[in-house]
Amino acid sequence: MKFATKAIHAGIEPDPSTGAVMTPIFQTSTYAQEEPGKHKGFEYARTQNPTRHVLEKNLAALENGVDAICFSSGLAAQDAVIKLLVAGDEVLAVNDLYGGTYRQMVRVWGNWGLKSRFIDMYNADNLEKEIGPDTKLIWVETPTNPMLNIVDIEAVCRIAKKHGVMVCVDNTFASPYLQNPLDLGADIVLHSATKYIGGHSDVVHGCLIVKDSELGQRLHFIQNACGAVPGPQDCFLILRGIKTLHLRVQRACENAAVIAQYLAKHPKVDKVYWPGFESHPNHAVAAKQMRMFGAMVSFDLKDNTHSNAMRVLSSTELFTLAESLGGVESLIGHPSSMTHASIPREERLKVGLTDSLIRLSVGVEDVEDLIGDLERAI
Ligand SMILES: *Cc1c(COP(=O)(O)O)cnc(C)c1O
Repeated sequence: MKFATKAIHAGIEPDPSTGAVMTPIFQTSTYAQEEPGKHKGFEYARTQNPTRHVLEKNLAALENGVDAICFSSGLAAQDAVIKLLVAGDEVLAVNDLYGGTYRQMVRVWGNWGLKSRFIDMYNADNLEKEIGPDTKLIWVETPTNPMLNIVDIEAVCRIAKKHGVMVCVDNTFASPYLQNPLDLGADIVLHSATKYIGGHSDVVHGCLIVKDSELGQRLHFIQNACGAVPGPQDCFLILRGIKTLHLRVQRACENAAVIAQYLAKHPKVDKVYWPGFESHPNHAVAAKQMRMFGAMVSFDLKDNTHSNAMRVLSSTELFTLAESLGGVESLIGHPSSMTHASIPREERLKVGLTDSLIRLSVGVEDVEDLIGDLERAI
């Protein structure tokens, strides 16, 4: 099956007990057993829930994996991946990544003996000299947030494999429609399904997808032992969102391409960050590993004072000033004071994340209206 067909059909059968075409919300905490241990595969809803189970089968298909594990948030999914490690192990992560990922690794897992280092992976060869005896996990996010750098997933996985190191790719910004890291050699794919997969900014959810069923079993064990499960209604909303994932992401990417080109020509705009530009340093890698170039665009203003950025951020009307991304509606954000405030300023500046950087999550509205909104604000 190709992507759109999988989005709508993979793992989804009419409900056997009623014929309901849409997967029901199984709002139950427990399941009747005929005699002790004799049941229909469901015992207690932390361990298994039928709505969640259908979603997991669907997500596994979208990422070409064999198993998926759904969590109450993207960061709960990350937490489970880190629990595959032990104290003293090291994670090498991309140096421009989601602020919450950095915060959890350093400020929570750092207290439990996790070593984490944030390094430049845009030239994958840099990675090889950084891998040490304690390195057990490589954490990739691409496109990165908010600088929209591109990491060559295949090249990173090749190096990791040589050293027996596991690779987890946070595929939130691309979505499974644009990029499938398991096909490129990754061991685990992570999504904050809160973003494109859910797509309507109405649910917080996370998932992991793997291509090795033994690794999947270890992650299911961690989830059941630690408990960060999503509720069935949230799983239903994610399933519903996925049915239009390909349509939404395609339109959002088309809109983003038009907006990136508009911004690049704007006299008051300085740098525009979008992997679709041929001048983007890793454009060729993006073209190789992504179906389209994504719907996130970041830019700096020529008058790059904090106050000028604040003026633009508070004057858009269609672009809502808010955290998050990946919904049908367009959002505008200020990474240095919002999503990335938990990263120290010196670290932010090192990767080009200035105080005036503005990030757009382009939605699926009419692009002429979105450009009109930016034109008035800038
Ligand atoms: C939002 C986000 C997360 C965290 O996901 P939650 O669902 O908010 O816990 C992780 N990675 C990226 C790239 C994100 O955008």
